[in-house]
Order: sequence, then C-alpha cells, then structure tokens
Amino acid sequence: MDVFGYLPEKEELAHWLTTEDAEAVSGLFAAALAARKAYRGSKVYLRGLIELSNICVKDCLYCGLRSSNRDVQRYELEDEKVYSEAMFAWKEHYGSLVIQSGERTDARFVDRITRLVRKIKELSSGRLGITLSCGEQRPEVYREWFEAGAHRYLLRIESSDPDLYRKIHPDNPKHSFDRRLACLGYLRDAGYKVGTGVMIGLPFQTPMQLAGDLLFFKNIDVDMVGMGPYLEHDRTPLYAFRNRIPSPERRLDLSLRMVALLRLLMPEINIAATTAMQVLDPLGREKAIMAGANVIMPNMTDPENRESYQIYNNKPGLKDDAAITKSRIVENLAAAGISIGWDEWGDSQKVH
Ligand code: SAH
Ligand code: SF4
Repeated sequence: MDVFGYLPEKEELAHWLTTEDAEAVSGLFAAALAARKAYRGSKVYLRGLIELSNICVKDCLYCGLRSSNRDVQRYELEDEKVYSEAMFAWKEHYGSLVIQSGERTDARFVDRITRLVRKIKELSSGRLGITLSCGEQRPEVYREWFEAGAHRYLLRIESSDPDLYRKIHPDNPKHSFDRRLACLGYLRDAGYKVGTGVMIGLPFQTPMQLAGDLLFFKNIDVDMVGMGPYLEHDRTPLYAFRNRIPSPERRLDLSLRMVALLRLLMPEINIAATTAMQVLDPLGREKAIMAGANVIMPNMTDPENRESYQIYNNKPGLKDDAAITKSRIVENLAAAGISIGWDEWGDSQKVH
C-alpha cells in the first residue's frame, strides 16, 4: 500500500530530492515519520554487525577494500571470534546479527559461512536472526546458506542505472550489472527476505537517477533497503572525482530525503539508518530514524580489526569495542526518545 496513494513519476520524486522549499521538506520528513509509526510501529530494531573478512576478489572503484588496494592489512576472523561476537548479540538482546564480508566464491569460504550460520543458530537455540551480506554467489550457494539458517540477505544494487553502475565499476564480467540484478532474483527464489540499496551522492549521479533507484526498489518489491551517502576513500580510483560530488551536508540531506520518500512509497519495509550517515553527522542515524528509517546495525567488530575494514575514510568508532558501540547507540536513541525492539527480529510482514 502506498501512502502516496498513487505511484509518483520519476520527475516528482526528483523534485522532492532537489526542492529548496524547507517547509515542504520538513513536511516530507514528518509524513515519513508518521508512516513509519503507523506501518512499522514506534520501535527501532538492532542488528549486530560482524565484519567477517576484508578479503575481496572484486575491485569496485569506490571501495577501500577493493583487491587492488595493497595498503590494507587483510584479515579473516577466527571461528571462535565470530561465535563470541554472535553471543554478544545474543546476550545483549539484539535479536539478530549481520555477517558482512568482502566477496569470495571459493569452496572454503562457502563452506565456512554454512558452518558459521549453522553453529550460531545452534548456540542461540534458533532464536538469533541472521542476515548475510557476502556479495554475489551462485543460486545453489544462496540456497545452502538459507537452509543453514540465514533468512535475510543484503546485496546493494549500488545504482539501479546500468550506465552509472558501469562508471563506478571496472568493465569486466566480474562486475556485471546484469549479474548483480540476477542475484537479487536468486535470493528471492531461495526464500530470503531481500535487502538492497544504493550509494547517494556518487560522482556523475543525477537526482533523476536517484528517483529511479526509489522506483527500482518499489518495482522489485524489496523487503529491506540499506542506502547511505557515498564517502570518499583516498586509495580508490573514484577519489579522483571528489570535486564532482555534492557537499557532505548535501549528501546527508539527500540521503534523508531518499529515506523519507522510500518510507512513503513502501511503508511496510525495513529501512536502515546506515553508518555512512553517522560519518557525515554524529547524529546522522538518529536523523534518519526521524525521517522514516527503523533499523540500525551496531558494529560488534573488535577494535583490532575495525581499522582494516574501512570501506570508506573516517569510519567512526575505530577505537570502540562492541560494548561501547552499544552503549553509545542506546544513549543516543534514548536521548532522541526512540525505543528499541529488544530480542525481536523485526521482519517486515510484507506479502509478495
Ligand atoms: N562485499 C559485499 C559487502 C561488503 S561492501 C558487497 O559489496 O555487497 C558493503 C557496501 O558498502 C557496498 O554494497 C557499498 O554500497 C558500500 N560501500 C562501499 N564503498 C563505499 C563508499 N566509498 N562509500 C559508501 N559506501 C560504500
Ligand atoms: Fe568488495 Fe564489496 Fe568493496 Fe566491492 S563493495 S570491493 S565487493 S567489499
């Protein structure tokens, strides 16, 4: 069901992204907040984030973990470390966790994820929800991980415009838009709640393309969206175009407007307030919650590895551990009067 009451044209959405009418924009945020409360309730759900490994076979032009970046100390968390982080999520009542990693498709990696997912399910008597964000895989791999117990998968399309997608990725079969799109279909077929998303404020990106991203989410009927500002990383090719992106303030504002418009277009889905928003403004995530988002992913990675998982520069909380990260989020949410859905998966009840 649309709060809009009709499917807006791309032009109308692009207008909302660009209008300088401050009163209209606060009205947009207020409507999105009301829609979140009406359709998803007042609570925000937490998903503890495990950054499993920064080893990646891909070479995305924007990402600090790209395989050509030799300045990164590559790591893979030990099994025991993964289980202790998972148990942190369990004991701290997060309700679910996310395992994210650079992309790999070798059998050792595939088997390892299966083993980790099974064991985490076992350790939490089947109660911890598990989201995976481990890139593009074959349909049978997605099925294997689903059968092991993962039930949500996050794979951002990055940009739904194939031309822009091509500009921000190397031109080879490993970085194919069509394949990424096909993977979203495999995930749905395997039974997952499917999450996708885009980066906002990329070089060469237009408001019409962002409006197209919103309609893309609607069109493929996603269950979850995690989108956030594009952030520079000085060891990536896209850094050369840093003068061609919107200011940090504008990128955050655009991201908040994207969240609000999506909440109105798809009131029943989960929308993340992403860490990249926090980079541009210490209260960026809380602002996103007030503009319609309802999910936050507190980092649970140990400080020794946080440093090496820098997708973008200026990642916040590099010296914090899981407990400190948690207390900061809980404090900030409490100060903003936002309640947390402890021990809940908080899945959208959307029927496809
Ligand atoms: N390898 C997996 C998951 C890890 S990357 C994958 O690519 O799907 C997770 C997300 O980080 C990507 O989807 C991308 O949208 C985001 N990301 C990468 N580089 C970024 C940057 N410079 N600024 C903002 N987000 C970035
Ligand atoms: Fe690898 Fe994901 Fe970064 Fe691309 S965005 S280089 S796939 S970690």
